[in-house]
Amino acid sequence: MSNQPNIAVVGAGVVGLTVAKLLQEQLNNCNITVIADKYNNETTSHVAAGIFRPGTSFKGPTDEITKRWIDRSWNYWDDILKTSEAPQLGVMSLSTYIFSKQNPHVTKNHLIEDLVPIYRAASEAELTLGPQGTKYGAFFSTLKVECESYLPYTANKIVEKGAKLVNGKVESFASLSNFDLVFNCAGMGAKYLCNDHDLVPIRGQVIKVRAPWVKMAFYGDYDTYIIPGMNGTVTLGGVRQYDSYNLDYCKHDAAAIRERCCELLPNLKTAEVVSNMVGLRPHRKPVRVEPEVINGLKVVHCYGHGGYGVMTAPGTAMDAVDIGVNFLRSNIRSKM
Ligand SMILES: Cc1cc2nc3c(=O)[nH]c(=O)nc-3n(C[C@H](O)[C@H](O)[C@H](O)COP(=O)(O)OP(=O)(O)OC[C@H]3O[C@@H](n4cnc5c(N)ncnc54)[C@H](O)[C@@H]3O)c2cc1C
Repeated sequence: MSNQPNIAVVGAGVVGLTVAKLLQEQLNNCNITVIADKYNNETTSHVAAGIFRPGTSFKGPTDEITKRWIDRSWNYWDDILKTSEAPQLGVMSLSTYIFSKQNPHVTKNHLIEDLVPIYRAASEAELTLGPQGTKYGAFFSTLKVECESYLPYTANKIVEKGAKLVNGKVESFASLSNFDLVFNCAGMGAKYLCNDHDLVPIRGQVIKVRAPWVKMAFYGDYDTYIIPGMNGTVTLGGVRQYDSYNLDYCKHDAAAIRERCCELLPNLKTAEVVSNMVGLRPHRKPVRVEPEVINGLKVVHCYGHGGYGVMTAPGTAMDAVDIGVNFLRSNIRSKM
């Protein structure tokens, strides 16, 4: 055991656990320790509906890398969708309408139009499914990943294969000097670990309701969305409040979300509320996936996925793991 590299992954959200899983698959001989102060339903990942629909402003360091992250992520989730493990991992397919009264632009998405099986303009008849006055619309087939299932299932899998999960807050990278390599997948926590002023929270709030009759996702104007999940629960959203750190539930946001969603899909009026959730999207342009040596410690950063971290976790994690493996091989080849 002693000649195996010791690798820490800081963060147990969708990014950290995906990095740990891919790392374990790529390196047969290594000791992986996931360190996090929040797991499962305490993470931002748990708040997300997890739909695969990147905002068109989602950005890696270049357009080519952005597209690679998206394409590889899609293929990763789509491959899971074809396996019997999909329900346990929380991966499901989802047909989606996006409607707008004002703006044709929002119904288009250059990042996925050529990737998902169907992406097309809505017909005149389909536009009548939107709220009164709907002028523009698109239909597309996509998928979603429920972190409620994905996080605990993935954590169990990596532990079965030898990884350790540790509960605790990392105050600085100096405290990890006994590791050969560290992956920084701390989401918003990276702001403090790296003193990164480019990482900004975009506050979100959602309502989870019971509405098993909703089988498709719907998007409307003003960041309104209705995204069904696996067990009859539907996520209603949303808000995007830039630079807000407020994790408290806001009844005004909830009322506005409910009103907008009911305009989009009136049969939601009777849906019972299961829970209200708030999360801070870790927004950064570009998303940071790169190596850094910090006081002799090899660190690979993988954070800043904003509102799109569930869907893009695999593509970014693949790059982070490749960087990490090369980083490790560059100096301690004998240990691998
Ligand atoms: C309302 C809302 C809706 C969303 N909808 C979608 C969607 O539909 N599709 C989509 O793809 N994305 C969506 N997102 C975005 C998505 O949730 C995030 O991009 C994603 O969860 C980021 O994952 P992460 O692993 O980087 O961060 P997190 O899930 O926040 O995990 C960070 C981890 O790092 C740990 N950590 C942080 N600092 C430290 C430290 N110093 N020491 C130890 N541990 C530390 C935390 O404890 C935690 O385990 C949504 C977000 C919100 C808020």
